[in-house]
Amino acid sequence: MHKDIICKHSDFFVASCSKAWAEGKEGTVKLPTVESATVKLYIHWAYTGNINLDVLDYGPGLASNYGQTAQLFRLYIAADMFLDRIMKNKAMDTILQRMNKRTFAVDWHSANLVWDNTTGDSPLRSAILHWSAATTTRDGFSKAVLSLRPAFVIDLAGTLLDLKGEAAFAKYPTYERRSQYHDHGVDNVKCSEKCSTQMT
Ligand SMILES: [Zn+2]
Repeated sequence: MHKDIICKHSDFFVASCSKAWAEGKEGTVKLPTVESATVKLYIHWAYTGNINLDVLDYGPGLASNYGQTAQLFRLYIAADMFLDRIMKNKAMDTILQRMNKRTFAVDWHSANLVWDNTTGDSPLRSAILHWSAATTTRDGFSKAVLSLRPAFVIDLAGTLLDLKGEAAFAKYPTYERRSQYHDHGVDNVKCSEKCSTQMT
């Protein structure tokens, strides 16, 4: 991949680029383990500014909304790992747009993936919790609960308790509310123009 494109996007890569490439070493950067499908999505985004699940082979895993959610979560987690805020926010926007269209669905595997790979203040956790509080049925929850990470169950209980009589749907995550689910770094608390616009 072309180093300028990748270096532009990610602090992780910038750090790697400035050391490995500037010193003219082997010209390769060692990445943490990330699934090949995620790398494909990441590179496609780096070149086009778009997240497009169609670049992946549509195996049985991707045919369902659940499988697509898993890919988006993996992409978000990778962006988190690469310290790439723009990618994180773009992945979040894609997730929120699917929530808007009601084409978002999450199973316990994907929820566990997030709780295993993010920290307590992760905006992705918030989005999932708000979505779950608004949409999860008692029946669905009963079936999944024994497979879910205890931390998720505790977080969901906390989210529901915090509602204090407010309708759970009031917190339903939407694209219009994306600002609260973005990572804006330490100094910036609002969405800026560049926040999740396409890279040129
Ligand atoms: Zn933003």
